[in-house]
Formats: sequence, C-alpha cells, structure tokens
Amino acid sequence: MFSWSIRPIAELVLRNASHKPATRLYPRERRTPFPRTRGQIAFRIDDCDFCTICAHKCPTQAIVVHRTEKTWAIDHGRCILCNNCIENCPNGCISLRNDPHPPLRAHEILTFRKDHAPPPTPQPVAVAPPK
Ligand code: SF4
Ligand code: SF4
Repeated sequence: MFSWSIRPIAELVLRNASHKPATRLYPRERRTPFPRTRGQIAFRIDDCDFCTICAHKCPTQAIVVHRTEKTWAIDHGRCILCNNCIENCPNGCISLRNDPHPPLRAHEILTFRKDHAPPPTPQPVAVAPPK
C-alpha cells in the first residue's frame, strides 16, 4: 500500500514562501555583471590611427578598418570576445565592457568614422565681365 505524508510538501511550500524567488523577473530585474565578465567591445576613435593591426589580429574578421576613409567597423555578431584586438592595439582604443551586448535582431555592422578636416571654404573668383 502506497503511503505518504503531507508534511514534507508543507515544509517545502513554507520554505519557498519565506524565501526570495530563485529567479529574477528578467528583463525588468537584471543581474549586475561580474567585474571580469566579457560583455562587449567598446571603441574610442579619438586615438585610432587606422593602423589595421586589430583587424589583422581578429580571428573572426569581425573588425574592418579603412585607412583612407578613416573608418573602423565591428560586426558584433562575429565577435567572440577573445580580447586579441585589445591586447594588440598600440593606442588603447579598444576595451572590453562587462555589460552584455543587447540581442542582435539583424546582421548589423557598427561603423565609426573619423571626421575629415572640413573642406576649405570656396572663395569667390573674380570673373571679367563679358565684352
Ligand atoms: S589597432 Fe588600434 S589604432 Fe590600430 S586600427 Fe585598430 S583600434 Fe585603431
Ligand atoms: S575581441 Fe576578438 S573576435 Fe572580437 S573583435 Fe576583438 S579580436 Fe575580433
């Protein structure tokens, strides 16, 4: 004959009722990232000289650098957060943030562009009147 007692279940219910829930109400309540979490790549264009080292060191070709156009682009969908670009950048332009990148809804490449010097203002040219 199968016999069981309600006592263990009652204890479990009471224990759970008096504790905080084991899960969070994500995304309303988010865990603070651990200090060494590899979350996402951050880039600062100010000191970048477009040497392309980071692009060559990236094992997944997530970074594309154009010297002449002065652009630096990253495909977060390809980045595996290996840290290679950060360790090899001579100017310290790349860093690792510990907050995770928001979910990618589409394939997008984030491009940074260093503004070129503005073109010189055109000067009026004296034109001789027609004879
Ligand atoms: S290695 Fe650094 S300085 Fe060189 S292109 Fe990459 S981010 Fe810019
Ligand atoms: S962390 Fe690694 S995979 Fe991501 S961009 Fe840098 S070198 Fe490429």
